[in-house]
Order: sequence, then C-alpha cells, then structure tokens
Amino acid sequence: MTAGRDLDALFAPDSVAVVGATEREGSVGRAVTANLLADFDGEVVPVNPNRETVLGEPAVDSVGESGADLAIVAIPPDPAVEAVREAGEAGVDNLVVLTAGFGETGSEGAAREQRLREIAAEYDLTLVGPNSLGIASTPVGLNGTFGPSMPDPGSISFMSQSGAFVTAVIDWAFQQDIGFRHVVSLGNKAVLDETDLVADWADDDGTDVIVGYLESVDDGRAFVETAREATADTPVVAIKSGRTEAGAGAAASHTGAIAGNERAYEVGLREAGVLRADSAGELFDAARALAGQPLPETDGVAVVTNAGGPGVMATDAIGDAEGLSLANLSEETVDALADALPAEANRFNPVDVIGDADVARFRDALEITLDDDGVGAAVVLSAPTATLSFDALAEAVTEVQADYEIPVAVCLMGGESAEASGEILSAAGIPTYFDPSRAVGSLDTLSRYREISERERTEPTRFDVDRRRVYDVLSRVRDRPDNRLGVESMSILDAYGIPTPVGEIVDSPGAAESVAADIDGDVVMKIVSPDILHKSDIGGVAVGVETAAVADTYERLVTRARNYQPDATVLGVQVQEAVDLDAGVETIVGINRDPQFGPLVVFGLGGIFVETLEDTTAELAPVTEREARRMTEDIDAAPLLRGARGREPTDLDATVETIQRLAQLADDFPAIVELDVNPLVVDPDGVQAVDLRLTVDPDALPEEPPGATDGGDP
Ligand code: ADP
Ligand code: MG
Repeated sequence: MTAGRDLDALFAPDSVAVVGATEREGSVGRAVTANLLADFDGEVVPVNPNRETVLGEPAVDSVGESGADLAIVAIPPDPAVEAVREAGEAGVDNLVVLTAGFGETGSEGAAREQRLREIAAEYDLTLVGPNSLGIASTPVGLNGTFGPSMPDPGSISFMSQSGAFVTAVIDWAFQQDIGFRHVVSLGNKAVLDETDLVADWADDDGTDVIVGYLESVDDGRAFVETAREATADTPVVAIKSGRTEAGAGAAASHTGAIAGNERAYEVGLREAGVLRADSAGELFDAARALAGQPLPETDGVAVVTNAGGPGVMATDAIGDAEGLSLANLSEETVDALADALPAEANRFNPVDVIGDADVARFRDALEITLDDDGVGAAVVLSAPTATLSFDALAEAVTEVQADYEIPVAVCLMGGESAEASGEILSAAGIPTYFDPSRAVGSLDTLSRYREISERERTEPTRFDVDRRRVYDVLSRVRDRPDNRLGVESMSILDAYGIPTPVGEIVDSPGAAESVAADIDGDVVMKIVSPDILHKSDIGGVAVGVETAAVADTYERLVTRARNYQPDATVLGVQVQEAVDLDAGVETIVGINRDPQFGPLVVFGLGGIFVETLEDTTAELAPVTEREARRMTEDIDAAPLLRGARGREPTDLDATVETIQRLAQLADDFPAIVELDVNPLVVDPDGVQAVDLRLTVDPDALPEEPPGATDGGDP
C-alpha cells in the first residue's frame, strides 16, 4: 500500500515555477503561464534562461533558482528529465511534467520514463505525469493546465488518465453547473497514480466525491486496499475504459477463460467500493447526486407527480434499480393524502396530484409523503401545466428538501422553461433531469453508495492445512515440459481439506481391476494425460463402469488417447468412486491469477457446459465467509443449490467452506496460475471435488518448502 504521500504542497503551493515559460503564441509554456497568472493566489515564477520577463513576470534561469513549492515542466523530454533532477537537488519537491515522449512512445521513451522514476525515488518527489495535461486546484485558483479554462469551484475531485477528457469535462461542466476542487490529468502515472489520489482526497475535507476516468490500474491490490478504506467515508465513482480480454484466449482452464482481465477489474473495483459508470453522462450524474444530496436512510422511494405517464416511467425505473424499491405508504400517509388531495388524485405511490395541481398542493403532497418513515427518497415529476409555474415548484422543492434533509431528484419535463427553473434546483444540489429514469438513477447511486459506506469488513478464516504436501505436488511441474497438472494432483485438495472421492491412478488393466474391487458399486474411469485438457471431449471419461468391464475400459481409454494424439504422454487411468449426480449439482470453483489484482476465485454452475452457460461469479482471494456465501447466492443457478422443485437443499455451508479453502490455497501459493475444480459436486450431504486441473509457474515456487502445517484458526 502507498504510504499516504502528502499532497498539500501539490494542491496548495505558495509559489509555482513554470519550466519552459515563454510568450510564444500557441505554445504549452505560454498557455500554462497565462493560466496561472490569471487566477493563482500565490507567486508565479517563469523559468527561462533567455528572457528577463515572461508575460510581465520576472524570469529566473533555472528551476533550482525558483525557490518554488511546485514546478510545472513544459520543455522537451531529455531536458525535462534534467530539470526534474535539478528540482530534486534544489528541494522543489512537487512536479507536474506536461512533456510527452515518455512511456507512451516506445522503448526509448520507456527508458526515459524509467530514469524519471528513479530520480523521483532518489529525491522522494511527488510527480504528476509525464504526458499530463496538468493539474488544477480551485481553492487557491491554481490552473496548472494548458487547457482553455479554469474549472468552477466545487466539492468534486477529478482524476483522468486521458488529458483530452479533462479539458472536455471542464468545458462541459460550466454548462452543467458542476464545480471541482482538484483536477488531475494523470498522464503516464510514472510516480503519482490513482491510489495516491484516492488516499489523499479521502482525507481532504473539501472533497465530497472522487471521480475517475481510468484506463488501467497498475497495482490493483494496492488500489483495492486504499479505496476500500476511502469509500467508507468518501464515494468514488469511476469509468474504467479499454475493456480488453488479452490473454483470455490462451487460457488453459475454464476459470482462465471466464475470469479475464475485464472480470478482474469488475471484481476489484466492486471490492474497492468504487461505483462504476459506463459513460461520461452516468459518471457525472452520479457525482452530482453524491455531491449535492444526503444519503437515503431506507430504500423506499416516493414518486410525486402531476402526470400519470411519467409517474409510471419513474415507477418502472425504480423497479429496475439495484438499491431502490417503491415505498409502501403507511395508512396514515394515505389518509393524510386523501384529505389534502382532490378525489380524483391517486393517494397511493406513485402519488398523482393531477394536472390542475398548483404549487401548494404539490408541496403538501411532498411533505406528507416525506413524513412517512418508509420513504427514504423522493422523485418529483412535473409536466408543464397552466396552474403551475416551474419556478415556484423548484423553489418549493428546494425548501422542502432542505427542511427534511431527505434526498430528492426532480424532473421538470419541459424545454427552455424547465432549464431556467432547473438552475434553482441545481444551485441547491438537487439533481434535475428531463428523463424520469435518470432522476431515479441518481437516487439509486445514493442508495448503492449508502450500502458501500456501511460495509463491514470481516477477516477471512484461516484453515489448518498441509502446505508442505501441496508444495511437493506442485514441485512436480519442474520435471514437466508443460506446466500443467491434472487429477494425478488431487491430493492437494485433500491437503486443503476439500473432500474428494476415493480414487487411484493405475498403469495396467489388472491394477485397475484391483482398485475397482475395493470400491463399492460401479466406478468412473478417466484417462490421465497432461496432453489432454478436457478428458470427456475425447471420450476419456467412462462413468458407470461395472467391475467386469474395468479391464476393457482401461484399454479403450488408452486407445482413445493414442488415437487423439499418438505421442500423448499417458500417465495412466484414474479409477474413481462414482458420485451420485442425481442428488447433486455440478458446480465449478476455480482460481485465476490476474496480473493487476492477483488471484480471483470463481464459483458457478459447472460440468461440461460451464463456458456455454457462463453462470459464474468471482471474488478476490482471500475470500471471507460472507463473500463466499454471497457467491453461492449470486449465480442464476442459486435456486438449484437451495433445492428447487421439491429437491432437497444442497449443503451450502460445505460449498461456502470449500470456496474459502480454495481461496486460501490461491493466496498461499502464488505459483498457482490457474486452477479448476470442475465439477465440485454439491449435494445435501456435502461436496465432492471430482476433477482437478491446474497450471503452475515453477519459477514462482519458493526454493524451500514451507513448514509442514499452518496453524489455522482454532
Ligand atoms: P473433464 O472435465 O476433463 O472432461 P471430468 O473428470 O470432469 O473430466 O469428467 C467429466 C464429467 O463426468 C463430469 O462433469 C461429471 O459429469 C462426470 N464425472 C466425472 N467423474 C465422476 C464421478 N466420480 N462420479 C460421477 N460422475 C463423474
Ligand atoms: Mg471436469
């Protein structure tokens, strides 16, 4: 985790140097200098050895002479690196490097960026960029960007990995009455990244909402740790763009195919408590609602409208929302509404004050519904009518909202007339839209964030396991050309307390017969070969094999493997106790290690159709009991596990424990790149891991075996 870098001087410096300040029209150096001179409360020091003054300010020859707290660097790449070193030597500890030509431009640029990183580490510099559009901080009038305008002040702090998006947002925000506290164009994130900013802004009293546009999160684990804490008090809303599935095609396991990089971001950001937006519109709808409105105390929403159709639209949107429900108004409320409204009005939710309502009737209805304890938020909808002025309604809603401190969203459903009145509401922080579904969406954001802010973190259970045995089995890949292991490694499950059916691997028909003789009833036989990933695809699994057929089946399975691939390495045939599938459900539990977020644990409907049905859910390892339980509840097939259609419920506790144990395995052994237990048969009596496949990175295995056991939780 990032050790809480102090960013005070970055966002509130007394003096700012511009390295590369110039008067040349159209240059970055001129634009930044002019932007700073326009609004900055402190001193601006142009750095330019060739000039006495720049835009009227006396210039100094070097950043070292500037004595500034912050230097903004806008000179070509190699001199920029030198300027950063000079700044470091002179104690100018905060830098924003606007210069491009670093990591974004190929290997030479990447080497230059590495130098920059080393210099920053040597002098312990706080450095934004390179390839940044700059930073802005409205409390001190600092516009250290080369964009065209200074944002309006506000309580949203905004970071973006795209510089162009920064200027676009600032420009658009004026029109939307959205103000900012800090704005950072992250650039290449050589030093300062999203995790540092989330940590800093979460502690900043003036920041109510953190907004991000992210293309990558380099250290996903650190980000999750930091953001998880931050989001308990400060909401974080982000767009994560660039949804690539690199690597998924090459995955050797189902879990690998299911849990690609995009899935890891989805899980990681959810675990971090980040509210994800899919578009710029959604991003700022969410930010505006969070900045302007209190959080609802309950999920129930009241709709108060003077028009039937829009009321239905809002009701539908509430039904679709994740964190809202249509409030069930109490008898008292309904009676009070009946007294206040004409007979034709609807006194139930959605409350329809009907078309001839004036502002007094609207206001009464709103106050009566907000008095109801089951109402946590309200949507007010109005079509233009002859009896009502939008201005008057906007003012009334503003007053009532301030009075009740309950979140409200408004739809003034009109054109120009609505726009002017909408400003009254915006100024009071009340979200206002034409579209009822957007108004409802903004309330849903508040409700979802309330749930995040109330999350309690529990510690994952540590089970008593045999790590030494797992180490020994994993070490076998050192002798294998590929890094894959299959059912011959089932003992690692045993070592982690995950039940497996009795089974043995044999290398002759005779040996198969004698193993089968010790097993009650029919057996299952499987070909064991590192060259055969999916055994049943080649007819390599025989179920319901009678004792008399065991020897023949052995030969048949080996022949099939040879037919499939003549030079396949055949390790033998597994003879396994049959598990009763009629009473159970085939599930999958798997591990996939993501480069940014580490091991992801996947659970879902398993068997041979796992990739076809794609009914899975994931969490980052380690997994707490609560998270594991959520996983068993979240898949579409959850009713099957609970015992649909008169079937007995399966043993969910055993499933939950197996997920946690496998997560611990993933956490304990970074060498496990991916792993599938498919199927894990879950039935009323417990679970059985019937099949196993994994990929191991031998280089990630420790040299020394771990201690034999790991004292788990008592
Ligand atoms: P693969 O996934 O490589 O094809 P599995 O061992 O998963 O091989 O077997 C494929 C299918 O055969 C399983 O999904 C399950 O339906 C069935 N099966 C495998 N082993 C058993 C067993 N011991 N008892 C009952 N059915 C089994
Ligand atoms: Mg399988």
